[in-house]
Amino acid sequence: MKTAILYSEKMKDYDLGHVLKGDRYENFLQLFRERFLNHSRFEMVEPSYATNQDLEMVHTPKYIQRVEKHQSRDPHDTPLSPSVVQAAKLLAGAGKLGGELVQSGKFDKSLVIGGGVQHAGRNYEKGFGIFSDVGICAENLIQNYGLKKILILDTDAHAGDGIYGIFSKDPRVLFISIHQDTRTLYPGPSYKNPLGEGKGTGYSVNIPLLPGTSDQAYEHVLDEIVFPLTEEFEPEIILMVDGSDPHFSDQITQMGMTLEGIHLIAKKIRKIAKKVCLGKVVDFAGSGYDAKGLLYPRGWLASLCGLSGIETSLQEPYTFPPNLSTNRGLPETKTIVKTIQKKLSGYWKCFSSYR
Ligand SMILES: [Zn+2]
Repeated sequence: MKTAILYSEKMKDYDLGHVLKGDRYENFLQLFRERFLNHSRFEMVEPSYATNQDLEMVHTPKYIQRVEKHQSRDPHDTPLSPSVVQAAKLLAGAGKLGGELVQSGKFDKSLVIGGGVQHAGRNYEKGFGIFSDVGICAENLIQNYGLKKILILDTDAHAGDGIYGIFSKDPRVLFISIHQDTRTLYPGPSYKNPLGEGKGTGYSVNIPLLPGTSDQAYEHVLDEIVFPLTEEFEPEIILMVDGSDPHFSDQITQMGMTLEGIHLIAKKIRKIAKKVCLGKVVDFAGSGYDAKGLLYPRGWLASLCGLSGIETSLQEPYTFPPNLSTNRGLPETKTIVKTIQKKLSGYWKCFSSYR
């Protein structure tokens, strides 16, 4: 089976003039081409712009109209201009197509380069995100392809509060977010790791980890929470929101992962996807902030290779800090995991013994 790489040169217009720059797409592609040009496992696919009908699967018409007028309510983080808005539509189109290509069976994996909008909601832009590529991908699969169970696994260092808001009441979408504790990072302590609302209660699982937490603790979370839930929920497809911002060298977060750790998560998701959903995964790899542009291309590649089952060398571009080890945060994470298993015990059979 093949992995579709969704990319268009016009994605570079998603440049917000701060840490999120438009050269990130081409930076990744350069490294990808160096390693895998003409590799039979990968195929480049050019997405098209999301239409208004596509956007309205998630966003309100009123919000779309405001964005068209470039009136941002979050102008510092998420400034709007004609080129940025067009690029946001392209990213949303890429998310929609990424899901369709995998659902059709033509590909078993797809990668939305630079995707993974986490903070934008149904009627607001927020935290670098305008249109929810992840939300549109999931809603399209539900509304137009009849899917009844979708897992969104978000390992980006920031909590996916926007994705949570979009699906909090929907039991067809299991949303799991593993993130740096919001008391220490954006979107901040007002996000209190909710369980969902109404019929969706129990279908939002937030796992806040301490700053500095490294690979072994992430692996523990996958083994003890993510995999039991995935096996019980039996999703028809997995959407991953990742990237490289849980890496120890990221400029705007404080987590402690290595490239090997990012690769390992993806490898393990490949394995569970094979078991529960014919290997179907859409990967939205977009996070990662370093001025030299050395980290995120490698982080995204680590994800892509882990998911696709392709080996590649993962040399760290930055020195591993002497005060960090790959088991950092493991004892604290074990305690956090126990608390969450207990919290979920009334909703999921796999945790019922923790009551
Ligand atoms: Zn992030």
